[in-house]
Amino acid sequence: MTAVVIDGRAFAADLRTRIATLAAEFEAKAGRKAGLAVVLVGEDPASQVYVRSKGKSTIEAGMASFEHKLPADTDQATLLALVEQLNADPAVDGILVQLPLPRHIDEQTVIATINPDKDVDGFHVTNAGRLAVGQPGYVPCTPLGCLMLLKDKLGDLAGLDAVVIGRSNIVGKPMAQLLLAESCTVTVAHSKTKDLPDVVRRADIVVAAVGRPEMVKGDWIKPGATVIDVGINRVPAATEGKTRLVGDVDYAGAAEVAGAITPVPGGVGPMTIAVLLRNTLVAAWRNAGLNLPADAI
Ligand code: NAD
Repeated sequence: MTAVVIDGRAFAADLRTRIATLAAEFEAKAGRKAGLAVVLVGEDPASQVYVRSKGKSTIEAGMASFEHKLPADTDQATLLALVEQLNADPAVDGILVQLPLPRHIDEQTVIATINPDKDVDGFHVTNAGRLAVGQPGYVPCTPLGCLMLLKDKLGDLAGLDAVVIGRSNIVGKPMAQLLLAESCTVTVAHSKTKDLPDVVRRADIVVAAVGRPEMVKGDWIKPGATVIDVGINRVPAATEGKTRLVGDVDYAGAAEVAGAITPVPGGVGPMTIAVLLRNTLVAAWRNAGLNLPADAI
């Protein structure tokens, strides 16, 4: 193995320490804690775990957590009324509606109802537009976390060839926008891309956000490239009945050629909640009309 392992867990822990310091500073200045409201509709087990973990991390960072758990048969009007109530609540800086929502509720309508200045997930079209034209807003947590890891590892990204595999609104597209804003030459690959291995071989930076276990092979990677693996895939483990997590990249193969690579787990995964806390704190400072120290987080 030649690649340096990018330790997302350590980076996220350090980021959370800096966030906690600034959260205390915010509380002293504003006379209240920064607040994140998380809304969960229904009992999806994975969503319950995420919501619990987000609430716990929010409190650990010295911010206020407001959890709203609604039954699976909640109608859309009731959910929209709750979002409006949170929009109007001065104690709430960030609003996150946990996805997926039950099928009878239209996700886009719910996201569109969140005040863009409280949309710490960065899913509102206003924030997607702000990112596209280079205005301050909120960027989805996972791609912003990937960018932080890349800049920490590589410094200036200008002029580098970046290939993003995947074009979802949550990961691939905002990742491509962020890399473009850093003056990378960006290619977005997807399920219809021809000769994907050849496209990936051009890349100094590869971001894989596909959802297919170990799809990106070691011989697709340019020697010395930096590989960011967003994928979280559960596959059968060697022990019968057990499962293990793998990324979208064949880690063992890619680590032989890459210059640096994120592992799964322990790479991009821990960054997502840390960036959610970061976005919430940025929202708190902005919403209170205070100036966050430049480049603080
Ligand atoms: P998605 O299903 O919305 O999008 C997948 C993308 O991959 C699509 O744009 C599709 O065009 C592309 N794709 C599918 N098959 C392909 C192929 N054979 N070749 C090239 N491209 C192909 O998924 P998503 O929400 O963007 O998530 C992607 C992965 O990242 C998943 O494994 C997900 O679990 C993971 N994820 C991780 C985090 C985290 O916190 N680390 C957050 C979000 C998503």
